Amino acid sequence: MVRLSELDIEKSYAFSFDDFILLPGYIDIEPNEISLATKFSLNINLNIPFVSAPMDTVTEAEMAITLARNGGIGVIHRNNSIEEQIEQVKKVKRAESFIIRDVITISPDMTVGEAARVMQEHGISGLPVVDENNKLLGIITGRDVRFASPEIKVREAMTTDVITAHEKITPEESIELMKKYRIEKLPVVDKDGKLVGLITYKDVSLRGKFKYATRDENGRLRVAAAVSPFDLERAIKLSKYADALVIDVAHFHNQNVISATYKIIKNVDVDVIIGNLGTKEGVLDSVSKLEKVAGLRVGIGSGSVCTTTQITKAGSPTLYAVALAREALEELGADIPIIADGGIRNAGDIVLAIAFGASSAMMGYIFAGCKESPSPMMMIGGRYYKLHRGMGSASARQKRMAVDRYAKLSKEIAEGTEAWLPYKGEATTVIQELVAGLKAAMGYAGVKNIKELQTKAKVRRVSISAFAKAPDLLFPGESKY
Ligand code: 5GP
Repeated sequence: MVRLSELDIEKSYAFSFDDFILLPGYIDIEPNEISLATKFSLNINLNIPFVSAPMDTVTEAEMAITLARNGGIGVIHRNNSIEEQIEQVKKVKRAESFIIRDVITISPDMTVGEAARVMQEHGISGLPVVDENNKLLGIITGRDVRFASPEIKVREAMTTDVITAHEKITPEESIELMKKYRIEKLPVVDKDGKLVGLITYKDVSLRGKFKYATRDENGRLRVAAAVSPFDLERAIKLSKYADALVIDVAHFHNQNVISATYKIIKNVDVDVIIGNLGTKEGVLDSVSKLEKVAGLRVGIGSGSVCTTTQITKAGSPTLYAVALAREALEELGADIPIIADGGIRNAGDIVLAIAFGASSAMMGYIFAGCKESPSPMMMIGGRYYKLHRGMGSASARQKRMAVDRYAKLSKEIAEGTEAWLPYKGEATTVIQELVAGLKAAMGYAGVKNIKELQTKAKVRRVSISAFAKAPDLLFPGESKY
């Protein structure tokens, strides 16, 4: 563990990523054998320490699905109505579940036109048809809909001869059954013929494809959701679907915030991550008052599109905040995972955050430029750019007031800005590059896994001149090769 006391750093020096360098250490394995398995929160394990930030230009379902498939996790932003946020969470949970539990069904008395609309709205190609007691009567697929008149009743167009499965079926058995009957959807029924779930070929076949995905006990991708500490209704509703809640407030160490979070923790039974925190006192105070904290999100004012520090001269740089949070947790004897949040630019920053005690890194800037971010793309001078904006920026605040009937802005000043970032392509490529960078860095540091990085790595303060390049290398000419 990198301890401040052993680093001979002035207690008042609020440092950040560029101030340190990882010292090389002895290793007896190759970088590709290094494990990046870690924890997001007390009950959620990850295979890579990457978390996408709850920002409305970063994380909705598509980004969260990509993060989870690659072994990380996404936190769905809250700049939307409760219903919209729940829908995003559900999309992730539905993306690859083995047995889908909240099946979208249709009544036999609806019309084929209505069935087509439901399918389009939810992006699905088939609906089980059930009676008022949820008893399975048939199934209507995209093909049935395409070739039938939209006015006729579903009961006239549906297939009644349905192949079904029972709840104990394994993924392998379900694949066999679907192959045998050449079907893509397998309704799951109980002994009375009532619909209790649905298996789709797409979901089951995807399970084998993403071996390192972050999944829950039912094989569904995991996802977290951001909530305001003052929105108990949102927290309770979201907790029925999301795997974890992230309390999303710029300054957690506030009496009202802590009391409101206490109520949320008492009313939900998923992991609750608190933040943002930036001081040792903040962590000591919050963790002791709240009893059941499942994770800490730390760093204040370091975000790429954050203007808090310029405007208020208040903040706690992310790396410093991690070190202080770790000190506090050691004092409390609590092993709560720390999420380093804000200002992360590359794999090296993540390695340092973990070396100082973090378990994962939350990133907005890194992912905002990717295809999967829900942000607009624009062509400027022949190149593509995507928008990244702070959740405290004027335009994001404006949207919050428009979409959330309970939103209250406690501050009268914007603390974020907007920026157009170069388009980076698919998030999976970005994640793979970060993974390779992280493993290379850990190889240099001589550590085989995240635990060793947290406990064994050594860092040193670095002088500004240590890695300065020769002036003529700053603008290299074109290669002749
Ligand atoms: P990034 O990875 O973009 O450098 O930082 C992402 C983090 O910035 C978010 O997880 C959040 O903590 C913080 N953040 C997002 N929007 C704002 C904002 O408008 N103001 C401030 N102060 N921080 C923000």
